[in-house]
Amino acid sequence: MTSLSALFKPNLSYSICRTIFSRNKFSSAYFKPKYVKKKIPKHHKIPLFEKEEIILAPKVPVKPKQLFDYFLVLDIEATCDSPNNVEPPEIIEFPVLKINAQTFETESIFHSYVRPVINPELTNFCIELTGIIQGMVNDEPEFKEVYQNFLQWLEKEHILKPGVKFAFVTCSDPDLNYFFPLQCRVSGIEVPACMKEWICVKRSFTDIHPYTWPDNISKMLEYCELKSEGDLHSGIDDAKNIARIIKDLAERGVVFKINGFKETHF
Ligand SMILES: [Mg+2]
Repeated sequence: MTSLSALFKPNLSYSICRTIFSRNKFSSAYFKPKYVKKKIPKHHKIPLFEKEEIILAPKVPVKPKQLFDYFLVLDIEATCDSPNNVEPPEIIEFPVLKINAQTFETESIFHSYVRPVINPELTNFCIELTGIIQGMVNDEPEFKEVYQNFLQWLEKEHILKPGVKFAFVTCSDPDLNYFFPLQCRVSGIEVPACMKEWICVKRSFTDIHPYTWPDNISKMLEYCELKSEGDLHSGIDDAKNIARIIKDLAERGVVFKINGFKETHF
């Protein structure tokens, strides 16, 4: 059985490094490095600049063949506060869509709210941002149990079968570079190898729109001329909107590649 052991292959230890510059219309004279790293992988386009208007890549007659059988679109929501964030942020919503990489249809959904344990009371800021109220997490399992349910779902969906090629997809890097591994450390879980690399949709977006770095899901939807559906910062609605964006990008010729790698040490 390939089962769960396949998930826990040794870390391929990518030491990816890139330099991303950003600017906005209010600070066009300055280019502030967000990340400065040691090595620049070939597939990273730099520098990336935010632009207000882009020339949208045209749709192609036939969607290109993808390198994967399935995309697992993930969008994490976590405890938060402002102006000072809660420490550590804990996952409170964990949705994953299983997307057929040829049709881009959603074949199955794993979705769970999660009860935070270190800071069990959601802040007003968090409730307003995510739409997740206290009653939606109070009776939910802690992350350790949710993670086990998630692994069972992966098995049930035959994602872990030999020869099945899949990749996690996130809007940007923090979901799998920060929130998930941090929660794993809190919950005493080892981060599986397959969640140490992912497809960052923002970066895929730049593959066909060079020098454009979309700020967020809303901006990508706007650029792709798609209407936002559901509520922003609802994990499940965000995941569904990301799924619509990757379908649109595939129709514009994008072949999705792994372009995000875990760099954090927890
Ligand atoms: Mg979200």
